[in-house]
Amino acid sequence: MGKRIGGRLFSAEVEGMPEYPIEFGGMFFTNEQKNVWGLIGELAKDQKWASRLGKRWVDWKPRYHYLRGKRLVNADFSDPTKTIPYDLRSDETCLDPTELLVSKINCQFPGLKKALWPYHPKPRQETALYLRKPWKGRPLHEWGFWNFLNEISSNEAYELMLIAIGCSSGLRNSNAFDAIWSLLHDAQSQYYYQLNSGYQQLPECLLEAAEENPNVKRQTEHEVSRIEARGQSMLVHFEGRREPVEAEQVILALPRRALERVEFSGVFPKSFKDEDLAAVISVPASKLFLGYKQAWWREDIAKENVLPKADVAASYTDLPIRQIYYYGKAEAGEPGLLLASYADDAAESFWKGLRPPVDNGEARFPDLSSAAGPDAFASEAMVQTAIRQLGLMHPEFVVTNPAGANFVDWGDEPYGAAWHAWKAYRESWKDSKRMRRPNSKLPVFMCGEAYATLQGWVEGAINTAELVLQEGFGLPRADWLPATYELTIEE
Ligand SMILES: Cc1cc2nc3c(=O)[nH]c(=O)nc-3n(C[C@H](O)[C@H](O)[C@H](O)COP(=O)(O)OP(=O)(O)OC[C@H]3O[C@@H](n4cnc5c(N)ncnc54)[C@H](O)[C@@H]3O)c2cc1C
Repeated sequence: MGKRIGGRLFSAEVEGMPEYPIEFGGMFFTNEQKNVWGLIGELAKDQKWASRLGKRWVDWKPRYHYLRGKRLVNADFSDPTKTIPYDLRSDETCLDPTELLVSKINCQFPGLKKALWPYHPKPRQETALYLRKPWKGRPLHEWGFWNFLNEISSNEAYELMLIAIGCSSGLRNSNAFDAIWSLLHDAQSQYYYQLNSGYQQLPECLLEAAEENPNVKRQTEHEVSRIEARGQSMLVHFEGRREPVEAEQVILALPRRALERVEFSGVFPKSFKDEDLAAVISVPASKLFLGYKQAWWREDIAKENVLPKADVAASYTDLPIRQIYYYGKAEAGEPGLLLASYADDAAESFWKGLRPPVDNGEARFPDLSSAAGPDAFASEAMVQTAIRQLGLMHPEFVVTNPAGANFVDWGDEPYGAAWHAWKAYRESWKDSKRMRRPNSKLPVFMCGEAYATLQGWVEGAINTAELVLQEGFGLPRADWLPATYELTIEE
């Protein structure tokens, strides 16, 4: 357990390119994520943090796909004269993959478009209640999302949506209610932003703000190993020879795998680990970054027929590199940063196979950023494999060797997952509330993304933190939250 603050918000500055930090974990937030948006605004009122929390709007949506060996721009999906390399039913053609998924959902739930959020300014709770009604004889949360999609899609359409929308894990077999809930968040009209200095600045500034209270003490490199109930207080033990701490209240802001590694004595019932923690699927994902002194994708702008002239752009493929993000000024000769592979679901295991154990002496590629740390190394084999796939995707360019590379797999300890998803049959609106205080008799609280209503987003994580502070500590609602903003779904 290192000194770094931020967990799955992990930003590292690239030498010579400070304006485009590597984001190994979370990278985007939106203006509709009212808690994150408001919190950043609140902290940025103070000059000490304002410059570190500067944000930029990013129009990152992919405009280029390379699927089944064929190159497609977005307009091709809606153009009946273009051939999409999937054998779609006639009612599934002429829509881009995201529109296809959203239209399929809206077709099953026509009330959404008629009068509900996200298409109308209504309480989200009304949408939640509407979606909780039985669908084909069973409540929606009892359906796996893949099973649900299988009922309403051709397999070819499913394969297209699985690969071409972005992260494939969102279309796997997590709880259909929560998968649709999450998609509706993406479907609402909103703008995406990044922090100029990296998303890790948010937890860092937040901690510095907390430390203005002299009672707040930062203790990094303290890995909790055991928590023991002693009457109404808790004894918290740490790895190594660190002294245990007696606590009257404990907040565990840990994801599923980290919680599984902690031993609890007399704190939670026996079923806590096997049933409660196991209520969510752990989703694997990794990111491989390559850095260039001269971005090859800007080498000859005249050739640039598919890549947009934006500072941040994306393209997706069914090759194991999966999602590619291009960062850098849209001019030839400029340095560039490439998120050469953002791989979740099955593709994550592809890159695992190219990563040797830390000390086996196999060739490591030079680091792109010294801030990445010793575990974030990329292997030579990994980089050469990525270059080969990038070459297939971009035949008009010569894909050159990068100056440096770094790689993070979030399946590693202590995270065990990039993000989480509620399993089918779980009533997440009930489970999520119970997990904030799993034993009502002890003041041990839990918050974080893993058991949130909105998983996979920082917004979900800090909403649970806000709820723990209100419910467990009697704190008033954060004043940056609009009065109508709902932090969770009620029963
Ligand atoms: C690849 C990737 C892309 C993502 N993209 C986005 C995005 O674009 N936008 C977005 O909003 N979200 C995104 N997310 C999700 C977002 O990063 C997470 O939801 C959020 O950071 C989770 O915060 P958390 O506090 O719940 O958990 P974490 O950030 O996982 O924090 C847990 C902390 O606990 C520490 N810890 C673990 N075990 C112990 C122990 N035993 N003792 C003490 N400390 C321990 C860890 O070191 C860590 O600091 C992404 C995540 C990943 C991995």
